[in-house]
Amino acid sequence: MQSLKRRILEEGRVAGDGILKVDGFLNHRIDPVLMEEIGAEFGRRFANERITVVLTVETSGIAPALFTARQFRVPVVFAKKAGARNLDDSCYQASVHSFTRDKDYIIQVSRRYLGPDDQVLLLDDFLANGQALIGLSDIVTQSGASLVGAGIVIEKGFQEGGRLVRNMGIRVESLAVIRTMSKGQIEFDP
Ligand code: 5GP
Repeated sequence: MQSLKRRILEEGRVAGDGILKVDGFLNHRIDPVLMEEIGAEFGRRFANERITVVLTVETSGIAPALFTARQFRVPVVFAKKAGARNLDDSCYQASVHSFTRDKDYIIQVSRRYLGPDDQVLLLDDFLANGQALIGLSDIVTQSGASLVGAGIVIEKGFQEGGRLVRNMGIRVESLAVIRTMSKGQIEFDP
């Protein structure tokens, strides 16, 4: 998606620890026009699928998930990050290792909002080592729902997540795949 890649090149900042900061349009300030384009692109890529819910994880997945869900006229469910103290029995739960914070946390989704009749599209802002997607797909399995695939705004192709998740048989569609990045230089896969 050319408009997304242009924005990454113009505004993205590579932090020393392998993290791409795109706070200007996705992770802090959110550009609704770009989000609309992102939603439309995922709408095209998954047009032949039956989707009943878009599942993401708070916080930065919510905006692109919402614009994608709008295309399919289905709700967004976002997994909540929970501490050990506010775990809830009425929820499916999975443990996720956070790449950006380098710590484990629990994500949970109410049993009320996901069940065996659902056809789920996963959505997230970044794919790095794949732990967020694997946690979300674990929750889909627990619920008995079917997993249609995963939409990713920015995949860091030099990390292992893409290979890991695709090897699990999950269809992953990424709108921008970064091949390499260093301070001052970002290169995409074609
Ligand atoms: P993974 O679970 O695939 O290792 O990492 C994906 C999650 O970590 C995403 O939900 C995203 O919030 C965060 N993340 C991973 N890499 C980056 C990055 O380079 N920049 C930003 N802003 N978030 C990232």
